[in-house]
Amino acid sequence: MFVFNDNSCSWINDLNLRQNYKVISKDISCNFLIVGAGITGLSAARKLANLFPKERIIIVDSQRAGEGASSRNSGYLVDTTLNDGFTTNKELSRYKTKTDIYELGIKSVKRFIKNYQVDCDWNECGKFFASSNVIDFKILKKFSNTLNKLGFNNKLLFKSDLKRLLGTEFYKVALHTTGGILLHPGKLVRSMIDVLPENVELYEHSTLINWEKNKDHILCNFANSNVKTKKIIFCTNGFLKSLGIKKSYNFPLTLTASMTRSLTDEEYKSIGEPKEWGVLPVRPMGATVRMTKDRRILIRNTADLLSPFKMNKSELRKRSFIQKMGIKKRFPDLPNDIIKSTWSGIVSRSGNSSQIFEMIDKNIYAAGCYNGSGIGVGTLFGEQIALMASNQNSYEIETINSRIKPNRLPPNPFLNLGIHARLFYERIRARSEI
Ligand SMILES: Cc1cc2nc3c(=O)[nH]c(=O)nc-3n(C[C@H](O)[C@H](O)[C@H](O)COP(=O)(O)OP(=O)(O)OC[C@H]3O[C@@H](n4cnc5c(N)ncnc54)[C@H](O)[C@@H]3O)c2cc1C
Repeated sequence: MFVFNDNSCSWINDLNLRQNYKVISKDISCNFLIVGAGITGLSAARKLANLFPKERIIIVDSQRAGEGASSRNSGYLVDTTLNDGFTTNKELSRYKTKTDIYELGIKSVKRFIKNYQVDCDWNECGKFFASSNVIDFKILKKFSNTLNKLGFNNKLLFKSDLKRLLGTEFYKVALHTTGGILLHPGKLVRSMIDVLPENVELYEHSTLINWEKNKDHILCNFANSNVKTKKIIFCTNGFLKSLGIKKSYNFPLTLTASMTRSLTDEEYKSIGEPKEWGVLPVRPMGATVRMTKDRRILIRNTADLLSPFKMNKSELRKRSFIQKMGIKKRFPDLPNDIIKSTWSGIVSRSGNSSQIFEMIDKNIYAAGCYNGSGIGVGTLFGEQIALMASNQNSYEIETINSRIKPNRLPPNPFLNLGIHARLFYERIRARSEI
């Protein structure tokens, strides 16, 4: 199956079009093949190339590199998350492991930015978990207690502070945490492509169709050629399942976001000229909303179980309408036609919000399934799975391996029925926040 995407993502369209790219057209033999050139795959390729500067390292993607979820996300490099099922006191130690992994992820991205002098609109402004529903104070208070126990700076805020800080009267209560970072995902990922070392060969529009493990190699079939590799690393995240990787442990979800044009001086003044900010929802299906550095508003308020291979335009229009309503609720005075583009991306989920990071068979490795934390965790997992595939160990690998592992999912049709029911229930619970 070929990955097909809409071409309307603002983050990607902010960048210059990359002109030259190679497609796999002849048979290749190599020691390392990486499948998927998003944040995870690009980080794995960079790490392997630095470890083995003389080795031929091949990385392939079904579409243009970085144009999957990696550049289609909302640009939150997270230190903490609220909606991941690990926030009760009973599970404090599990939540701590999760945040330890987030911290290592932030460190990996910071190191990358510093080493390669990357400009990706990095802003250490933290983030708000915000709600328009005062009842959610209870959830936020409990979350604040959890964060206090783990030493994360946080502050509860109410309507008047929020109006001043966010430029909208929509939110009634919020928890601000200081550790998160906002960035431009397109710029970050483009730099990961640009700095790939010379011994990395990147092939785009090159879909892995089939693969088979033989005695001492793995044979991978592409449209017009084969790659014979000693080791393979699957970094296809939302497409792990369709390639048969850990297929009873993860499933793809389609997330859709919209971005407005930049607000005019007058519009910006009318909302009180707030600084750049990012809001995450308190209830799982609520909206992620962000004011960018250049005064654009991003909103993501849908998650659907759809085929990851189809980006249906009429479905996209429906979701764009939901996002228009979301912006209208928060900024009633902005014009109706302010949304400039709407796009979807595929993420991978597990039943218990844990990630995939392992050798799934001898010489076969996989990393992914980050839900909404793939910027940091994807960078970390990409680098560390490369180390693991080189038979090395690290403090990071030990920390990652101390996490709770993804649990086994029920087979279909029960799985899809369960996911649809859960999404429906969460949409009802979050209806005021969409
Ligand atoms: C709308 C949206 C908002 C999000 N917001 C955030 C956020 O704010 N913060 C955050 O940290 N995360 C966020 N995420 C999640 C984040 O984007 C992902 O976790 C992250 O990009 C995963 O990176 P990856 O490299 O593992 O996967 P991807 O970027 O999905 O890369 C996988 C690549 O594999 C390729 N591929 C698939 N099948 C094949 C095949 N058969 N052959 C060859 N190539 C193949 C795909 O084309 C794709 O490019 C969001 C995601 C979306 C969609």
